[in-house]
Order: sequence, then C-alpha cells, then structure tokens
Amino acid sequence: MLCHICDTYTLSFIHEKTNITYHHCKDCEYIFKSPEVYQDFNTQKERYNLHTNDEEDEGYKAYFKRFLDFTLPLVGQPKTALDFGCGASTILSTMLKIEGIDCTYYDPIYHPDTLNNARKYQLIVSTEVFEHLQQPKEVFSALLERLEEGGYLAIQTQFYPCDREAFTKWYYHQDPTHIVFFSTQTFKVLSKNFDCTYIGDNGKNMIVLQKRSVLSSSIKE
Ligand SMILES: [Zn+2]
Repeated sequence: MLCHICDTYTLSFIHEKTNITYHHCKDCEYIFKSPEVYQDFNTQKERYNLHTNDEEDEGYKAYFKRFLDFTLPLVGQPKTALDFGCGASTILSTMLKIEGIDCTYYDPIYHPDTLNNARKYQLIVSTEVFEHLQQPKEVFSALLERLEEGGYLAIQTQFYPCDREAFTKWYYHQDPTHIVFFSTQTFKVLSKNFDCTYIGDNGKNMIVLQKRSVLSSSIKE
C-alpha cells in the first residue's frame, strides 16, 4: 500500500494480539492502521462521549498549559487563532483569549457550525486530532488554506516509539479511534511538501510549522 503522506511504498506488519495490520513508510516514517479498521462517524462519536473533559478540572488546564508554554514562544504575537478539533471543550480557546488572542473553535462532532470559510487565522492549534484522521495530508493542506501567509500551525499528537517492540506495547494505538501515527520526520516531510518552514518540536508530542509568506514578511509587522 502507498503511504498516504508521501506516496512511496510502505512495509506492513501485523500486531500479534489484535491482528491489526499496520503500514509503515520508511521515507516519512508515517504509520497507519489498515483502512478496514477505521470506524464510521457514529461509532467514533460514542467513543468520544466517554471522554469526560471537565472544563474546571485543574489537570486539564495544566495539560493545555504545557501545550501553550511550548507553542506560544514560537509563534510571534498572533491576534487571531482557530482551535481545530477542540472536542466538546472550549477551554483551550478560552486560555488563548486570556493571552489576548481572538480564538475561534471548531469540532466536527461537538461544534460543527462554527467555521467561517471566509476567515483566515494567524495561528491554528490542533491537539490530539491528527491521530484520528483518515486523511491527515488533506486536513493538513486544508488547515494551511485557513492560515494567513506567515501564520503558524501548532499540532499535538504523540510521536510513536521507534523500537518495534515498544511500538507494539504502546498505549496510544490501542484506542480504536487512533488510526494514524507520526514521528517528527513525518511532519518535516509534510512541511517540505507544502512549502512550510519547520519551526520546531518538543521531541515528544508537539510541532510548530509556519506557512511561508510570499513577501517573507512576519505577521508581527
Ligand atoms: Zn511516507
């Protein structure tokens, strides 16, 4: 099967316990579960409803604070932002508003009618979304379309352990709604193929990219 990110041939392996086939691209290091195990929208929705993200929960706020502590120093001083795939909670957009950033949120299940297609943003954040996507390259491209030139895309998704045995035991792919997995190399390839600047990652689960500006001017200007 061809890689959904870079179109080169993948190698496959089967998980001994679950019998699920995974496809692994050696070029961009993308790993994806075989498409026959992808769930339909309603089955996914039932699973997401099990998540109890209490907006008042201090642990949940601390979780997003870690994301903002990494991301915000790398993205200039954006005035507008979109939280793409926020889930039921709007807490991250509230935290961005406290930072003085006018943040909109969108989620295909919980907040499906909040996107303004005419609007572009200086920052798009997307946490724990990409591992659910059947077509991450297409979503990546669509998010870039919603960014202003010179705008930033900040993504959180767990990078997988490179060792095959560690990958087999890894908790993250045991969630049936988690179907695709990334390394920093996957985002470097996406970044290159879509003419973005790879700003940085935290080596664990966060990446920041910048959409190139035609005039190479900064959004701070
Ligand atoms: Zn690939």
